[in-house]
Amino acid sequence: MTVGDDASGIQQKVTTELRAKSPYFGEIYSAVLQTNLNKLDDAYTNFFKHERGYPSYVTRLDSFEYKPGQAKIGLTNKNYATIYLPGIGNVNFHNSRSYEFGSVTDIRSVTVSREATYWFISVIVEIPDIIQDQIPLDKVKSVVGIDVGVNKLVAFSDGSFAINTKPATNKKTARRLAMRQRSIARKVKGSKNRKKAVIKLARTKHKIAANRNGRNWKVANDIVKMSDAVVREDLKIKNMVKRAKPKHDGKGGYKKNGASAKSGLNKVILDCGWGDIYNKIAWLALKAGKHVIVVNPKHTSQECPACGHIDKANREGEKFLCTNCGHTDHADTKASRTIAKKAGLVFPKNEKTLRADCAKVTSVERTTVGVVPRNHAFGTSGEQMCLFDIAEYHSSDKRITKKYGRTS
Ligand SMILES: [Zn+2]
Repeated sequence: MTVGDDASGIQQKVTTELRAKSPYFGEIYSAVLQTNLNKLDDAYTNFFKHERGYPSYVTRLDSFEYKPGQAKIGLTNKNYATIYLPGIGNVNFHNSRSYEFGSVTDIRSVTVSREATYWFISVIVEIPDIIQDQIPLDKVKSVVGIDVGVNKLVAFSDGSFAINTKPATNKKTARRLAMRQRSIARKVKGSKNRKKAVIKLARTKHKIAANRNGRNWKVANDIVKMSDAVVREDLKIKNMVKRAKPKHDGKGGYKKNGASAKSGLNKVILDCGWGDIYNKIAWLALKAGKHVIVVNPKHTSQECPACGHIDKANREGEKFLCTNCGHTDHADTKASRTIAKKAGLVFPKNEKTLRADCAKVTSVERTTVGVVPRNHAFGTSGEQMCLFDIAEYHSSDKRITKKYGRTS
């Protein structure tokens, strides 16, 4: 070791020694070990320099990464493809993507990951011109407001709904989850049967997550296809799923605080995956050159669209009845229309191409209230109006991550 080596430099030398000594490390492709060390180095740099959390110790990694040029995709047919992974060999996998690998020339890094005993390969590829130019705001011809909820997953301003399938909290899966958990609880700690039960639970959870993910893509796709601009509330989901506060009875004990009911509701809220739907909308809208407008959620469910009267009593369950003028509507649909209105987009009255469901927003005068072109995800472009991190789906150099199916 020489003076002036950085931490990962030192560790890489140790790795070389380890590989020579231990056959276990010798079997692992050296570049993969190095990527892991770089990740460790990043984690500590983030902790010391960027005030991130202290890296947690993991006994076993569930994923590893090949740098560009190391893994090579070989034969492909309709459903299956072969990939050469250095140190492992040729691996067949289920090709879950519709495009042919032949048309993709530049394969970037390849990540192999495990989720509940299922293995996945995710390949970053370059697809040129996937992101379309954004429609200028004054050329936007239609807008859809969306209101997310528990009973109806999404209410649209055209009066339609997306139903909530409740992937984890519907009767069937909730029962199955409870059974699997109970089965683990009954088994001896450290036993083989307990391990088997843990795997069963992990698989069930994986299936539920996959189910929710697929549904959210579908819903987000439907929403983005509907119009040129999507208007949504700026919900703080983290604040909505906080635990019920304890109520003291003054004698050192506690009163009932509805904690059980709140925790049940929290489960249902988290099962909806609203944040995930928002992220997917952001990515799909970006790809299609459409707008996402985020508005202040204040009073969206209480304000009367006819007379503007704001009252908590206006809303009763799924019904909306104005205590001032008697206007009635479906509460969620009404909320989605109020949200669309808040965007403050104005359309010419005689515009033929305007969708029928946009009638509610045509009469609004232009205001700047709530339409703040803030941009956290794309600091420089300032085009996409969103407040959340969509880096998961998009990196600035226009590459996208594709997740492939289970390896065979
Ligand atoms: Zn009213």
